Amino acid sequence: MKRIGVIFDMDGVLYRGNLPIDGAKDVIDFLKERGIPFVFLTNNSTKTPGSYREKLLSMGIDVPEELIITSGLATRLYMERHFEPGKVFVIGGTGLEEEMKTLGWGVVGIGEARAGGWRKVKHVVVGLDPGLTYEKLKYGTLAIRKGATFIGTNPDTTYPAEEGLYPGAGAIIASLRASTDREPLIIGKPNEPVYEVIREELGGADEIWMVGDRLDTDVAFARRFGMKAIMVLTGVSSLKDVERTGLRPDLVLPSVAELPNYLKAVLGEGDER
Ligand SMILES: [Mg+2]
Repeated sequence: MKRIGVIFDMDGVLYRGNLPIDGAKDVIDFLKERGIPFVFLTNNSTKTPGSYREKLLSMGIDVPEELIITSGLATRLYMERHFEPGKVFVIGGTGLEEEMKTLGWGVVGIGEARAGGWRKVKHVVVGLDPGLTYEKLKYGTLAIRKGATFIGTNPDTTYPAEEGLYPGAGAIIASLRASTDREPLIIGKPNEPVYEVIREELGGADEIWMVGDRLDTDVAFARRFGMKAIMVLTGVSSLKDVERTGLRPDLVLPSVAELPNYLKAVLGEGDER
């Protein structure tokens, strides 16, 4: 029988903001019972896997931290593997800052940057930064122009919140792209670096199912790397968007709660699909 591994996007799939999606917990229980491997993958780099674990736990979903991959964590793992150690300047939230401290290459804070420390920066890592200042953009720009690598956690230009669409990591990365004339390496969905990281996590699976709510990240990611794209309608993208963009999921479900029924059918049919 085909070994299936499942990747879940989180926001818009398992919960919306702080509200769990009905049936999300049952889906995870179903996978655990069957021994189907799964991971959670979010482009959000502002929180740590540990704080996501807490959030999921408050919704009754009990998963080890190791199964939660943020774009901040993926950035750290990718840097460990592909880049020369060197001081890091972070434009991002606490989740990204913590990952970069864990990396152990030294993080140049804003005070140190001001004192000329920006000249020693080897990597500028940019994610969504709720405390963004002109000064951070300035030192990020100076360091990149001096030759530091330019790394972005995720491409999302916006994200949905209470008052509408807020600027996302991609909007901050775009600002630095404009001020440096340099192209960043962007780690998160739908890009290759995070696929490399996730592929290792689900190494034994013959077929990977990507369950997500966004066409431009989740569905595009699945399409690009030969995964099965399962779109749920509880988040950002709608059926109208599917018609408009031409990004075709393999399957559209009203919500993640329908996934066990679908999995049962596929598993019951053995190797035919
Ligand atoms: Mg989402």
